[in-house]
Formats: sequence, C-alpha cells, structure tokens
Amino acid sequence: MRGMLELDGSTGEGGGQILRSALALSLVTGTPFSIEKIRAGRDVPGLRPQHRAAVRAAARVGNAHVEGDAVGSQRLVFTPQGITGGHHSFRVGTAGSATLVFQTVLPALLKASEPSSLFFDGGTHNPFAPPFDFIERAFLPLLARMGARVSLELERPGFYPAGGGSFTARTEPSPLSPIEVLERGELRSKHVVAAVSRLPLDIVERELDTIGRALRWDRSCFERVAIPNARGPGNYIAIDIACEHVTEVVTAIGERGIRAEEVARRAVLEVREYLDSGAPVGKHLADQLVLLLALAGGGSFRTGAPTPHTTTQIEVLSKFLPVSVRAEQLSEKVWQLSLERR
Ligand code: AMP
Repeated sequence: MRGMLELDGSTGEGGGQILRSALALSLVTGTPFSIEKIRAGRDVPGLRPQHRAAVRAAARVGNAHVEGDAVGSQRLVFTPQGITGGHHSFRVGTAGSATLVFQTVLPALLKASEPSSLFFDGGTHNPFAPPFDFIERAFLPLLARMGARVSLELERPGFYPAGGGSFTARTEPSPLSPIEVLERGELRSKHVVAAVSRLPLDIVERELDTIGRALRWDRSCFERVAIPNARGPGNYIAIDIACEHVTEVVTAIGERGIRAEEVARRAVLEVREYLDSGAPVGKHLADQLVLLLALAGGGSFRTGAPTPHTTTQIEVLSKFLPVSVRAEQLSEKVWQLSLERR
C-alpha cells in the first residue's frame, strides 16, 4: 500500500472540491490520505452534509476505513481498500448537490471490475455545483470521447431547500484515453430552457424575455418547462451552445429573493463570457476536465484564464498522480492546459 498523503484543505480554493477530488483520486490510485482544515475559511467550516455524503459514497465504493466524517469535522482520514462496483444507492439527505457525489465516485467505478448501477438522491440543480443538465450535455460527452461508458437518467429534479431530486447512472468498466479539445468548431445549435417547479410560469416568460432581448437569439430555440414532479419550488435556466467539437451548458439557478430578470442576467453574462473568449472549454468544465485528463495520463484543452478551482485541482491531482500540467497563455483570453506523465 502507498504511504499516507497529507493534505491541507484550506489551501487554494479552500472549499469542498479539494476533499472530493482527493476522494476520487484516492479511490483510483489506492492511496490513503488525511486532510485537515477542511473548508477552514468558510462561514460554516468543516464537513457539511453534502461533503459527508461524498465521503460516505466514496467509502462505500472503496471499502474504505474512515475517521472524522461527522458533520462539522475539519479533519478526515481516508484509507481505501479496493473498489466495489455493482448497485449502490447514495442519498445526500438534504438538498445538497447529488451531482457532486456522482462526480466523486465516477472515476473509481470506471475502474471497477464490474458494471455499476447507481441511484442518487438530493439536489440536482444547485448553485455552485454542476447542474444535471450540465453533467448530461457538457461533461458526459467529453467523458464518452475519452472512452467512458456512462449513461444517466434524471428521474426528478431536486432544488434547495426541499431536495428530493433523483437520478440514476449506469457505468461500465472503461479505461480513459487522453483527448485534445483545442477548437470549438462550427456553431451547430443554441437552445435555451427556462424551467420552474411549483412557481408561476410568468418567471419563465420574464427570464426568456430578458435573455431574448440581451442575446438577440431567435426565439424558436427557447423552451418553457413546467416541472411536474419535483418535491418543492425551484427555477433554473440551462443554455446549450453546441459546437462541432464541444457543447457548453451555461446554467443559472433561481433563488428566493432574486428576481427572474437577475437570474437571466447571470446566465447572459456567462454566455457572453464564453462566446467572447473563443475557447472551447468553459470555466466550470475546465476544473472537471483537468482531473479526467490527469486520470487518462495526458491530453490538452483550451479554456479561459485558469480559475482558483482549476489551479487547486491541479495541485491536488499532482499529489496523487505522476502527471504534470503546463498552463500556457495563448492570447488575452485563451489559455492552453497540457497534461503529460512525469
Ligand atoms: P466547490 O465550490 O469546491 O464545492 O466545487 C464546485 C464544483 O462545481 C466545481 O467543480 C465547479 O466547477 C462546479 N460548478 C459550479 N458551478 C457550476 C456551473 N454553473 N456549471 C457547472 N459546474 C459548476
């Protein structure tokens, strides 16, 4: 067994990502780790229920011995003992993001010796986490191009505070191969979804109106959705920008006290930022893709200036894997990240 890695959770971006990435990398490499100062700089430091759900999911998949996984804990020791695929059911227990739990266990299950069928329960459309639409249409296609056989199905969206969203995932053992994502290619289609659950449809109309006026896109690509089966109220916008080589899904999540026009404006700003940069990989996808490429042992992509999430991700993955990441600024708004085995 490899020696225990010691991590400081307050470095870099300092949030839950260091912990989740460490869990994913520990499972795949079989390297135990300890992490202290978990989310030390956050308003409510230590593990939140959502992070504990990721720890417990990783422990189940990796038959791991765990110390310090209580809510509020700022120190955790995680010792994995071999991956078990098959059927698993993971419940966050609150409206915390279930898609982040999915991303934590996914790389390990691709390495398992058997297929897996997974059930997730929690939030599916949360701020500060990848919404299901993004996972399905931006993240998964790139993963598929790397060779992963994964399918997902949303059963029910889950929003803060009611939660209760659910989705299933099926994975088959599949080695990951490096890819290059250097160009977007031609713009193929644009699609805007505005969705509400248990809220007036007028919210959707105001959001689409704001987006229509700001982006001047043909309204034939606008879709209005009244979600029939979510447990509580919720609202989100998902904007797909599908190009020849990559699809970006920009999202904005409605929140109590935030006007529909403001939710739409946030999405518009991110669409503009993405379109103006010319880079194929958006800012959120970048920190997720760099981890996948590290697991594949190489590859490269172009994105905007590396975010704190991306640089933190690079620091964590370099501790677990013999991979080096070179970041090169190509123009004012475009950077290239290239990974290779050390
Ligand atoms: P953390 O803030 O440490 O909990 O990590 C959040 C993770 O969610 C990072 O991988 C972000 O890139 C990702 N994320 C946050 N917002 C979005 C979004 N709108 N679309 C896709 N991914 C997101």
